[in-house]
Amino acid sequence: MHTDPADYVREAIRSVPDWPKPGVTFRDITPVLQDPRAFRVLIDIFVYRYMRHRLDLVAGIDARGFILGAVLAYELNLGFVPVRKKGKLPFRTVAEEYTLEYGNAAVEMHTDSVRPGQRVLLIDDLIATGGTMVAASKLLQRLGANVIEAAAIIELPYLGGSTALRDTGLPLYTVCSFN
Ligand code: AMP
Repeated sequence: MHTDPADYVREAIRSVPDWPKPGVTFRDITPVLQDPRAFRVLIDIFVYRYMRHRLDLVAGIDARGFILGAVLAYELNLGFVPVRKKGKLPFRTVAEEYTLEYGNAAVEMHTDSVRPGQRVLLIDDLIATGGTMVAASKLLQRLGANVIEAAAIIELPYLGGSTALRDTGLPLYTVCSFN
């Protein structure tokens, strides 16, 4: 019997050792999405957390953040905007580069995706080093957004993502963590 909905979600996450490379354990959320009960429990956790935050928009990070963010935005009757990997958006864009373990990456948004002052929730499936979330929140702030919180299903505390986000002044909410 599960008393805590977060435990139910956590137990549905699949851990795949040595993927995409040796030494990395990939936390795979596809079994959560595939199980209607786990998917609903997960989305409801976010709905109950954010229903009173007076948000205007949910911004989801490419690609698993799109799945969570779009469903959450629909449930909260909000708009959804994508934070995409570089080179995918057709209209005028603004980009923010960040450093990966090997090399650089960039996230992009349409310049008209947020109006100044709009209250935005940023969401992704997982926060590791926090590099992606920090870059996405900087991008939103450059567009004038008021980023209220960053949210993810999973946190890997040993990689320091919550600290990196806190250093930028953005609170982080996660459903569960893996050590
Ligand atoms: P980071 O920028 O280091 O916080 O990495 C977060 C991004 O990489 C998210 O979009 C995750 O989907 C993905 N990611 C990083 N590490 C993992 C992992 N161990 N399992 C699943 N996804 C990961």
